Parts: sequence; C-alpha cells; structure tokens
Amino acid sequence: MLSGTRRDVIVVGGGPAGAATAALLAMNGRDVLLLDREEFPRYRIGESLMPATYWTFQRLGVLEKMHAGPFVKKESVRFFAPSGRGALPFYFDEVEQGESSITWQVDRAPFDKMLLDHAAEKGVEVRTGVNVTDLLMERERVVGVQTSGGDRDMRSLPGRVVVDASGQNGLLARRLGLRVMDPGLRHVSYFTRFHGGLRDSGRDAGATLILRTGNGDSWFWSIPLSDDLVSVGVVGHIDYLLKGRSKDAQEVFTEERALCPPLEDRLQGATQEGPVQVLRDFSYISSRIAGDGWVLVGDAFGFLDPIYSSGVFLALKSAEYAADSIHEALAADDLLGSRLGRHGEEFVAGVESLRRLVYAFYDDNFSFAKFLRHYPQAREDLVNLLVGNVYRRDCSGLIELLDRWAPLPDYRPLRLSHSAT
Ligand SMILES: Cc1cc2nc3c(=O)[nH]c(=O)nc-3n(C[C@H](O)[C@H](O)[C@H](O)COP(=O)(O)OP(=O)(O)OC[C@H]3O[C@@H](n4cnc5c(N)ncnc54)[C@H](O)[C@@H]3O)c2cc1C
Repeated sequence: MLSGTRRDVIVVGGGPAGAATAALLAMNGRDVLLLDREEFPRYRIGESLMPATYWTFQRLGVLEKMHAGPFVKKESVRFFAPSGRGALPFYFDEVEQGESSITWQVDRAPFDKMLLDHAAEKGVEVRTGVNVTDLLMERERVVGVQTSGGDRDMRSLPGRVVVDASGQNGLLARRLGLRVMDPGLRHVSYFTRFHGGLRDSGRDAGATLILRTGNGDSWFWSIPLSDDLVSVGVVGHIDYLLKGRSKDAQEVFTEERALCPPLEDRLQGATQEGPVQVLRDFSYISSRIAGDGWVLVGDAFGFLDPIYSSGVFLALKSAEYAADSIHEALAADDLLGSRLGRHGEEFVAGVESLRRLVYAFYDDNFSFAKFLRHYPQAREDLVNLLVGNVYRRDCSGLIELLDRWAPLPDYRPLRLSHSAT
C-alpha cells in the first residue's frame, strides 16, 4: 500500500550528493523528500576538497557558510617520493584566479550537516533515522521507496523520480546488478586521526600531503583539519595490505607508518584519536546512470580512488547534472531513463579524465617529476586536473600524453544505455 502524497522526487541519502541534488531541485520549486538512515552530524571519510567544488557551492548559495564554517583553507597538494623527498607543491592559483583557487579541508560531520540543513532551508523535507529498505517497482519502472524506521506513515512512499544517493551502500546499483568494480584499483585503506603533530606554515599549512612509503607499495594522505586534528590514511593494493598481514588494523597501520619517515617526523608527539578503520574495494562504476523513474548520484553511481580527493567534487557535480536533468524531465512529464540520464556521457567523460591520472599515479614508471621533465608544457593541464577543472577546461592534450605514458587497461564497462536492465 502506498502512503502519503506522491512527491516529485525522493532522494535516498543525505551526504553531499543527496543534499545537493535535493537542494537544487527544491530551489527550482520541486517537492522533494530526502531520507537518510543516520542521524546528523555523522562521521564520514573524505575530508579534502578539490577547488572546483567552488562552483557548486556558489550555485547552492553556501559559499558564505563555507567561509564561516570550521574548515581549513587548502591552497595546494604536495607529493613525496618513496625516497622521502617532497616535490614542490602544486598551487591551485597556478591555473585558477581569485577565490576559487582556494578550497577547504573539511571535517565531514559539520560539513555534511551544513549541506543537509541548507537543503532543508531551501524547502526539502529532510527525514533522518529512516532506512530505505527497497525500491517500489511497477514492472521496470521505479515508482517509490520502501522504508523502515521513522513514522508509520512513512513505510511505502510514492515518488515520480527516485534519486539514489546512498553512497558506497549503493541501494539501487546493487539491487539491479549495475556495479562494475574497477579492475586496476583494487585497493584497501586504513585510516585514523591524530591530535597535534607538525604542520607546515603559511599558505602550506592547509596543504594535502601525499607521501609514498619507502618500498613504493603504498601511500599516505595527511590532511590537516581544524582544532589541531589531522586525518591520516594509507592506501595500497589488496594483495599488499591484506594478504599475509595481521588482522589487527592498528598493527598494519603502524607497520606502514614506519615505512614513511617524512610522515613519522610529522606525527612525532601527536596523539591518535580513535581506532584505525578499514575500507576496501571502493573503486567502481555503474553500468547505467539512470533508468525509468530513477537516477544515481555520487558514490551510489561510482567512486574513483582517494588519491586526488575527487570524491566529494564528483558527488556535487553529479548532483548538479542530475538535478538539471530531473527538473527538465519533470517539466516534460517524460521520466524515461533516456531523459533522466541525458547528462551521463558528459559526466562520465570528466570522471574518465581523472581516471587516467589515477592510473598514471599507480603505474610503476610514472612520477610527476619524470613526467613534467619530459613534458613541461603539460604542467598547466596537470594542475587543472588536480583542481578538478575537467568540466571547465579542455584537458585532452594531457590525456593523450598520459595515454602514451601509462595507458589505461581495456575497461569499458559503461553502457549508459537508458533502457531497462
Ligand atoms: C579511503 C577513502 C578516502 C577518501 N578521501 C576523500 C577525500 O579526501 N576527498 C574527497 O572528496 N573524497 C574522499 N573520499 C570519497 C568520499 O568519501 C565520497 O566520495 C563522498 O562521501 C560521496 O558522497 P555521497 O553523498 O555520494 O555519499 P555519502 O557521503 O556516503 O552519503 C551517503 C548517505 O546515504 C545514507 N544511506 C545509505 N544507505 C541508505 C539507505 N538504505 N537508506 C537511507 N539512507 C542511506 C548514508 O547514511 C549516508 O549519509 C574518500 C573515500 C575513501 C574510501
């Protein structure tokens, strides 16, 4: 039995992808219900933003809130070789002028809550503590969601469009069997946070540091947050970080730390806050981005790899694309997948540009220093990719060079067809 009035849009998940999609649709006058199973604020990994998030923040109208929030300003990213030697930072203002050249390191609990509250301010009905357990289908068309938790009258909810923004959980992609794992990025990550430790000074104080371990088999991120906190995580291939290693996450993390002297130096005297957490096999894409009555956004559609901190940027960008497609589809009263997913190819082209750079990073022959010695003219395009300018600048010249240097494996899972499964 369906209960309640039929919404224009039901969004499953209140992370950045869901909150942004919902807010943009509400700003266009759509009737939007957003459901999240957790209560906010809630913890999430993924604290470093790309500068190109600026344009979605501007469109959402949250720039003032970003400036006022408890976030650290990030002006660059710096890579350390296995030898421990740090390259010169890539400063974003090499390619980006003005305010958008500076981005933020965000504690996701207050950041995600700010975006969700903003969606509510824009008219979205936000319900937390409501778990979406299934989709309501009429043949191959999604017509609503099934829930548990929350009010009794919230059990079977009809919606003209369902947006899956449920993150790595991937409610819809799993149910319809759409998820394709990225074969070259079978990684695992161990991460935690520290209080104290050494920070760089001046404009480098908020930089993301990417530090390869001495054996070159893994790399650490170090992301400075507010209140003296720093987020630290190690990433490596499943075969290296899981097989034959201790089951104790803390032990593996400590072993890897010992292989990374420049990180060790920075963490001298720092105090670990909370246990080491583990995530694995987080890189995948869905074979479709939309179908009849449904659209995927953010991690529910795909996730690349943490190396360039592109997760939240792509989540926000996919939200923009999806909100526009959905708004137009509702206006035309045509809710077929072909209309709801018309942004798919354009969105995926940007993801694929970043994927080339991800694959290059993991190629044994590649290093930024070597690459730029060979192709100094590629620096501007390279910084544009690190900024996230994959939808605003033409980076095809760089993509061609990267293809020559570290070709992508034959992996083309995307059908992006819009017909039923
Ligand atoms: C190791 C690692 C490091 C990372 N580092 C970075 C980084 O530095 N920078 C960066 O930008 N990104 C990073 N990311 C990626 C980032 O975490 C994600 O890309 C981002 O959180 C995606 O946002 P989202 O809104 O799609 O999903 P999420 O933020 O995961 O939100 C999904 C929401 O859906 C809700 N939900 C799930 N299932 C249901 C259900 N059945 N019913 C109701 N609600 C549901 C959840 O409670 C959650 O609130 C990292 C990822 C990993 C794995």
